[in-house]
Amino acid sequence: MSTTQRPEPMTIAHLNGEWKPLDQCLVPINTHALQYGTGCFEGLRAYWDGQRHNVLFLREHAERLHRNARLLLMRAPAVDDLIAIISECLRRNAGVLAGANVYIRPCLYKSGTSLGPVLLNVPDGFMCYAFRLGDYLDTSKGLNLCVSSWRRISDSAIPTRTKATGGYLNSALAKSEAVLNGYDEAIFLNDRGQVCEGSAENIFIVRDGRLHTPDRTADILEGITRRAVIDLAKRLGIACEERPIARTELYAADEVFLVGTGCQVSWVHAIDRRVVGTGQQGAITAAIQKAYEDGVYGRDPKCGSWLTPV
Ligand code: PMP
Repeated sequence: MSTTQRPEPMTIAHLNGEWKPLDQCLVPINTHALQYGTGCFEGLRAYWDGQRHNVLFLREHAERLHRNARLLLMRAPAVDDLIAIISECLRRNAGVLAGANVYIRPCLYKSGTSLGPVLLNVPDGFMCYAFRLGDYLDTSKGLNLCVSSWRRISDSAIPTRTKATGGYLNSALAKSEAVLNGYDEAIFLNDRGQVCEGSAENIFIVRDGRLHTPDRTADILEGITRRAVIDLAKRLGIACEERPIARTELYAADEVFLVGTGCQVSWVHAIDRRVVGTGQQGAITAAIQKAYEDGVYGRDPKCGSWLTPV
């Protein structure tokens, strides 16, 4: 997440079966994952409803981590065990995290110290920690985006759908370039030159009253928020097409917004200094953002299955 976000120093974290203060959760400098980026992770949010935390899409995140681990020849805890550890992480920190929205980071990593970039016969480790998190991107104003000069890694090079730790160097390069050049966030094109996603967000555009988003073969992460937004659009009677999107469609779009666990639903003011639509938040984006917020704060009974109270 954002470099300005610091984990709460007094939280209790999980590392390889033990619960300890975060600053005592340490790994050796020759850890395989540190040297080769051999890990995969999840990012979840838990929303404070005034009395308790409700974890958003808990099972979906646990299932994605479990599936991604298999793809990367790693062994994650069972889905129900992942759910139990993530919930326990919130419970153990209930005192310090009460009253705030929270971000939770479970991460599976190659904990061995052997030499050589191979996934076989290197032990797996697992960690989970949580910290307070407000907005990841500033949702109060429209975002200024750029199309990155860095291309998205191909799913056939580092599987983008796995949330592999090593793949986030690609995101870090794009985000850093964007910030250095005065933008809030970067949009990747994939190696076919099609619109792909942000450094840590999926993207939707509105053209002629319909939503469009890159399809699941476009080297994107199959975002859980993306899926929820597609479902919300259907419920709101807004057509949504998953298809290849050309770069110039970004400039021709009436509305553009980013979605993700971190950024939630964030509207876009301009891309490469070209104002999107009227330059204000569009009606479809506003409807999706409101429906999403009603869902995550438990105000919409139709989204009851999104939340797990802890
Ligand atoms: N794309 C990338 C590269 C991401 O890191 C994220 C954040 N997990 C997303 C998209 C959004 O995915 P989700 O909605 O599952 O958080």
